[in-house]
Amino acid sequence: MTRLRSKYSGEKEYLQAVQEVLETIEDVYNRHPEFEEARIIERLVEPDRIFTFKVTWVDDNGDIQTNTGYRVQFNSAIGPYKGGLRFHPSVNLSILKFLGFEQIFKNALTTLPMGGGKGGSDFNPKGKSDSEIMRFCQAFMLELWRNIGPDTDVPAGDVGVGGREIGFLFGMYKKLAREHTGVLTGKGITWGGSLIRPEATGYGAVYFVQHMLHLQGKDIRGMKVAVSGFGNVAWGAAKKATQLGAHVIAISGPDGVIYNPEGMNDEKIDYMLELRRSNNDVVAPFADRFHDATFCPGKKAWSIKCDIAMPCAYQNELNGDDARELLANGTWCCAEVSNMGCTPDAIAEFQKARIMFAPGKAVNAGGVATSGLEMTQNAMHISWSAEEVDKKLHGIMDNIHKACVQYGTQPDGYVNYLKGANVAGFMKVATAMLEQGVI
Ligand code: GLU
Repeated sequence: MTRLRSKYSGEKEYLQAVQEVLETIEDVYNRHPEFEEARIIERLVEPDRIFTFKVTWVDDNGDIQTNTGYRVQFNSAIGPYKGGLRFHPSVNLSILKFLGFEQIFKNALTTLPMGGGKGGSDFNPKGKSDSEIMRFCQAFMLELWRNIGPDTDVPAGDVGVGGREIGFLFGMYKKLAREHTGVLTGKGITWGGSLIRPEATGYGAVYFVQHMLHLQGKDIRGMKVAVSGFGNVAWGAAKKATQLGAHVIAISGPDGVIYNPEGMNDEKIDYMLELRRSNNDVVAPFADRFHDATFCPGKKAWSIKCDIAMPCAYQNELNGDDARELLANGTWCCAEVSNMGCTPDAIAEFQKARIMFAPGKAVNAGGVATSGLEMTQNAMHISWSAEEVDKKLHGIMDNIHKACVQYGTQPDGYVNYLKGANVAGFMKVATAMLEQGVI
């Protein structure tokens, strides 16, 4: 860490992600001198390679715009690089390196053969027209296409990149490469996409929460759930939690939180998709449309009294103060759905209070796992039914939960899911690296 801190001093998210993993795997690592001899940690924390490129495009006014594009190919020990693309003004190398690093362990946990990668751009989709988004995606792919491929690197969506963007990116890839392959996941259903992929991150997260609760003799039915965000992930989580009888009493946006005491229904859940599609990045209109809901400007989802907190937006969106507020309000479970959604301070509060806490790389792995299932279907030139994909997703989330319990249960019986997820993912990747020699 000392070496990394001086080498990458400005990259705070990347350093935070590495520190969290190193702290939790320390004792396992020390029991394996062969890892130390092969310098596994030093090799694991450096990406295999990083592509940085200029993306120039023309907006609707005819003005020329310039953004920066990236792809971080982090680790391919267990399969081709795999991970999403994030389009957001905050995107920089630190954020993409942290996301790529997390992705290595998350993908290993899915039990599918996928390495870790991440990419994106500082492009801001807010307020852009569909044609501007299309032109940007095309310009982005014009640069990226030579470095990806179905057996090399398979990008997908992340914040700011959903079905629409994947369509535009795929169209350009296909034109340049002259092949119709599974080079991206999250594709449309009629052209190689997998059923359940759009829902998978949120559904998988709720399946994981059910496993956490069942282990404690509880069930999600009747529980009050606070969800942050209103994008694809929050939508899937709200939909599945509601189906299973929970009350989703909060969703939020950068503008504030919607207090929704009656919970969700089909109309409200569909409206979340409409909000996302509007490219406005605000949640306030939800309260204009549904009069049982109230908009609280500037507030976070964590100000609302709930049993279960599910951060579904960005990294570090739940800090120590938020954790203390949740605990004071009686929250007894926090399942991180966003990548690194909780600050180290917040995690320490949850663990100190001995409430259930599980990290994003376990809870949100259903998304990339279903991407893995999409790759399998593409490679076999078949498509599975929604029931079949959902059944496989269930099985994968069950396995991830079991792995966390196996590696994370402490002598007093408390399950440290953070440690469990990191150790399970690390052991798999480290062993593969060892077996493949010094490369
Ligand atoms: N962006 C998602 C994640 O953080 C999905 C990645 C993928 O499907 O490749 O895992």
